[in-house]
Amino acid sequence: MTASAVDLVRDAWDAACERVALAATKAGRADDAVAILLATKTVPGLAIRAAIAAGANLIGENRVQEMVAKAPELTDVPHETHLIGPLQRNKARAAAGIATCIQTVADSRIAERLSNLTAAPLSVMIQVNTSNEASKSGCHPDEALDLAGAVAALPGLRVTGFMTIGLNSPSVRDVAESFRVLRRIRDRAQTSGLPDASQLSMGMSADLEIAIAEGATMVRLGSAVFGPREG
Ligand SMILES: *Cc1c(COP(=O)(O)O)cnc(C)c1O
Repeated sequence: MTASAVDLVRDAWDAACERVALAATKAGRADDAVAILLATKTVPGLAIRAAIAAGANLIGENRVQEMVAKAPELTDVPHETHLIGPLQRNKARAAAGIATCIQTVADSRIAERLSNLTAAPLSVMIQVNTSNEASKSGCHPDEALDLAGAVAALPGLRVTGFMTIGLNSPSVRDVAESFRVLRRIRDRAQTSGLPDASQLSMGMSADLEIAIAEGATMVRLGSAVFGPREG
C-alpha cells in the first residue's frame, strides 16, 4: 500500500470513530459505549493492518476460508477476529481455531459442534433474523431466547450477546424496529438467567446511527472505513 492509501484508511477510521461517538452522545450514552468491529470481507491484509495501526482492534470476516487465508498476515498485530458470516459444520474447526467469537450461531446443531471442538471457552452470539427477510440468516425472534439458553448450557461456549443485520429499508422507523426486536430479546435474556449475554452487535455503515440509538454495543463497519467493495 502507498503512504497515501494508509492515510486514507487512517482518516476514514478516525471519521468512523467520531461518527460512532457522536451517535452515542446523541443517544444519551457514553461516547465510548459502542465498539467498532471492522467488517473486512474482500479487504486485503495490508489495509487491515493500516486500520489496526490507526487504532482498530476488532475485525470480522464473513468467510472462514478468507479468515484463514488472511490470518498469517495479521499474526504480529494486536487484534481479535470474529466470524460474522454463516458457519458450516465442516468449517467449524478452522473457525474456532482463529475467531475469538462466532457471532452467527443460529441453531443448536452448529453450537453443539463448536462445543465439541473447543477446549478453551469460546464466545458466541446468537444471530437473529429480526427483519423477516428471507435472504437473511438467523433464528426466528421467537426462538432466540430458548436457543440462547440451550447454547449457554453447552460446555465451552459463552453466550455474550445477540447479533442482527438490520432491515433493508428507507424507513428509519422500520429499521429501528428491527433493531428494537434484538434489544428486547437481549433484555429478556439478561433477566432470565443469561446476565453475560449483554452485547448487541447491530448497525453497519448505512444504519449505525439508528442502531446506536436503539442500544447497539458493537457496530460492524466495512465501507465506511475501507470504501465501497467491488462486485
Ligand atoms: C459486510 C458486512 C457488514 C458491513 O457492511 P458495510 O455496509 O460495508 O458497513 C456488517 N455486517 C455483516 C454481517 C457484513 O457482511
